[in-house]
Amino acid sequence: MEDGGRSTQWRFAAPNPTLAAAGERSIQKALLQVHACLDERGPRPVIALSHGDPSSAPSFRTAPEAEEALVAAVRSGEYNGYPTPATGLPARRAVAEYLSRDLPYMISHDDIFLTCGGSQAIETVMSVFGQAGVNILLPMPGYPKHEAHAVFHRTEVRHYGLLPERGWEVDLEAVEALADGNTVAVVITNPNNPCGSVYTYEHLAKIADMASKLGILVIADEVYGHLVYGTTPFVPMGVFGETVPVITLGAISKRWAVPGWRLGWIATCDPKGILRKTKVADSLRSFISIISGPATFLQGAIPHIIKNTNDEFYNNIVKLLKETAEICYDAIDEIKCITCPHKPEGSFFMMVKLDVSQLSDIRDDVDFCSKLAKEESVILLPGKSLGMENWLRTTFASEPPTLKQGLDRVKSFCRRHQSQAN
Ligand SMILES: *Cc1c(COP(=O)(O)O)cnc(C)c1O
Repeated sequence: MEDGGRSTQWRFAAPNPTLAAAGERSIQKALLQVHACLDERGPRPVIALSHGDPSSAPSFRTAPEAEEALVAAVRSGEYNGYPTPATGLPARRAVAEYLSRDLPYMISHDDIFLTCGGSQAIETVMSVFGQAGVNILLPMPGYPKHEAHAVFHRTEVRHYGLLPERGWEVDLEAVEALADGNTVAVVITNPNNPCGSVYTYEHLAKIADMASKLGILVIADEVYGHLVYGTTPFVPMGVFGETVPVITLGAISKRWAVPGWRLGWIATCDPKGILRKTKVADSLRSFISIISGPATFLQGAIPHIIKNTNDEFYNNIVKLLKETAEICYDAIDEIKCITCPHKPEGSFFMMVKLDVSQLSDIRDDVDFCSKLAKEESVILLPGKSLGMENWLRTTFASEPPTLKQGLDRVKSFCRRHQSQAN
């Protein structure tokens, strides 16, 4: 650059290349592309079945007790300062008690680290374990932020498959084949986003045995904990903490339908104290001490949110999800070019297989979602963004009439594009 005859060589011009690589693994990026195809002057409102944020749907409004707890925390004037260990203590105790209800042993506040949502819990564990030379095993399909943060920290990512024909269970043989002396952990998501599957006690026990045999940790993303409505109950991975150390990630975002509140946690479920001995707990503590955690008033509110929320609220959300999952599954069953291999039993999502050979002018999942957005003002997530080409992810955490309308539009879209040979 010429500047009064002087040319400056900017020293900061090379951005961190791992960040660019991490950015490729984002749902936002895929959705920007699909949203760009929307016809702004389309006659009908946009129906987004791409994203799992039901907070704007009246039926999914959070528990009044949760709203009251938050307001009371703000009004008390006690939570305007920086978060301190003292302000965080009741919150960590409350989360420890909440999680201990479902475990065969008690965890304490020392096992809990509060984060800004499940996302920062992911960022934290991937930062703590991330370094060049180590590898981590992630599910395919999976949640893109697991991979993004691992990649950002130069950790090698190795994908194991989930098996649609077996209810999207972990391919245990693949995990075993992928692990080597540099593997630190296997990540599981249960209840599963994007598949809507819920792992049985027996399957989780096998994962624990295998991880223990391999000498690796299990990182269990349980952000959808308790959001199950099929025949398989939710069993936290921490139940197997005697077999293998487990780091559990959680949040209030999904169960309470308040993703904007940004409160999550990391729990070390490790009754044998292996994470302490191996200094993992110290590393977690160090990382947490250099980042900024959840807002103080949220920390103040969380014991009351957990204590006061009625079973009626939990039951209603689960009942509603059961209903909307069924609406979605049945509607997809009637559409020829897409199939759902496994009826969802948990979370807000299902994976749907797209058969482009039945369509006349659709190249792939991205093309399908782009044209669907343009012609029908419906947004679905292309599977490609989750590493699953010619699959689609749809959410059903939506108001039932809206969901039905959206699925009707998908149906007429598919009919219109059906190839003549079929
Ligand atoms: C939503 C989600 C998260 C992130 O949780 P937030 O609290 O929204 O940051 C983590 N893991 C999975 C599987 C999710 O679906």
